[in-house]
Amino acid sequence: MGQNIVVTGMVLNVMPIGDYDKRITLLTKERGKITAFARGARRPNSQLLAAANPFSFGEFELFEGRSSYSLAKASIQNYFRELTADFQATYYGFYFLEFAEYYCQENNDEREMLKLLYQSLRALGSSAYDNRLVRCIFELKAMAVNGEGPNMFSCLACGEKQNLHYFFTEKGGCFCDSCGKAAGSAKETEIRRGDSFLLEDSTLYAMQYIISSTVEKLYTFSVSEPVLKQLLAVMKSYRKRYLDHSFKSLKILEEMSFETPEGLPGKMS
Ligand SMILES: [Zn+2]
Repeated sequence: MGQNIVVTGMVLNVMPIGDYDKRITLLTKERGKITAFARGARRPNSQLLAAANPFSFGEFELFEGRSSYSLAKASIQNYFRELTADFQATYYGFYFLEFAEYYCQENNDEREMLKLLYQSLRALGSSAYDNRLVRCIFELKAMAVNGEGPNMFSCLACGEKQNLHYFFTEKGGCFCDSCGKAAGSAKETEIRRGDSFLLEDSTLYAMQYIISSTVEKLYTFSVSEPVLKQLLAVMKSYRKRYLDHSFKSLKILEEMSFETPEGLPGKMS
């Protein structure tokens, strides 16, 4: 016999099944990423109609069967309506959901990722933050939470903790100015490929802050346009190298060209 459990989480993805049903993917505090069957969720009078949609955050009562969950009831605290009212922010949001779905696993402790997702969607829904910055913060923090962030606090060659202005994607982080200069001149091809950057102070500090800050304090700063462009370029290069996955929503986001590819200051080419 199965039993009912209550979990707190967010709907990451929804798939229509048959004529009236849905299969939803949830990121939960208690069980990590799970999928649940939402019977009748597409009927117009269904209690689950509003709840079984991407971004819905709240409590979900699930019947735990032998091999699957079914959604019985939901009490939604946040639909992120301010986010879904904005076309551009919605696509960033879909990208974050897809990113979280890719990274998270069942029965894994994903509380940090759930918190990060929640705070990042709130930041997208607020006019206080540039969506491109929210994206950089989300990507870098998500990779750091999953143990795949770049090494930003000491030189990868000598251990020096100051003047870490050289960033080598291929090496996975920073070199100090003297090691960076030496490595840089020996790595002409890599530099030409655009996998190395001479970081602005503010880019370095922003990346260090994102990695070391708590999720609650992540969205408390902004950066200048040149620094933001460098952050975008560094994260694009780093993500391509260490996250071997192509996100459908990212492709759409880039095709809608919210983010122009040109103008990458500090790229050593
Ligand atoms: Zn060094």
